[in-house]
Amino acid sequence: MTNDDDIRLMRDVLDERLVRPLDQGDVEIVRRELGRFPRGMVAVGARCPCGNPLAVITRPLVDGRTPFPTTCYLTSPEAVKAVSRLEAAGRMAEYTRQVQEDSGLRSAYERAHRLYLAFRHALAVRLGDSEDHIEGISAGGMPVRVKCLHALVGQSLVMGRGVNPIGDAVLDEIAGEFAPNICRCSIRRDEIGNPAGESGKGKVV
Ligand SMILES: [Zn+2]
Repeated sequence: MTNDDDIRLMRDVLDERLVRPLDQGDVEIVRRELGRFPRGMVAVGARCPCGNPLAVITRPLVDGRTPFPTTCYLTSPEAVKAVSRLEAAGRMAEYTRQVQEDSGLRSAYERAHRLYLAFRHALAVRLGDSEDHIEGISAGGMPVRVKCLHALVGQSLVMGRGVNPIGDAVLDEIAGEFAPNICRCSIRRDEIGNPAGESGKGKVV
């Protein structure tokens, strides 16, 4: 399974993402991005240059009872829209075929699966969450199929380039509409303010 270096790498990535405590301004922006309250949100996994969350880290067991495998959750409406367009065009089948035909790509994709599990395991240990119902299950169809491009892009944004080859390829494809280093956000942070002041700092919602 996962080798020790990968486990250490993912623990380090998680620690970096958890440095900045969750604040209510972030929660409010994600609520607007998703159109619903972000249950189980633990931290922002990636940010736009403007500060808006692009993807969030969600705990493995939401509300103490709902197993949630999609630990890296894409929230940027601009990214979601661009990725949805590729999905509507049926790109998952093409990517799945590439994974099956290209052995180098396949092993990189299998590694992305293992890294996803290692990252979530580090988070589960940190929070004391059970992984019983999602053990061995990553996201997006990994390790052998490509089913949800949103989940794979979420991983690429949270863990950085070079972890998920399909998430990276999708980011390349949508670069004209969405790129993590170029702000095209329709939701403006300065219009939201910080509704709950500092009171929500460090809390998991
Ligand atoms: Zn932005």
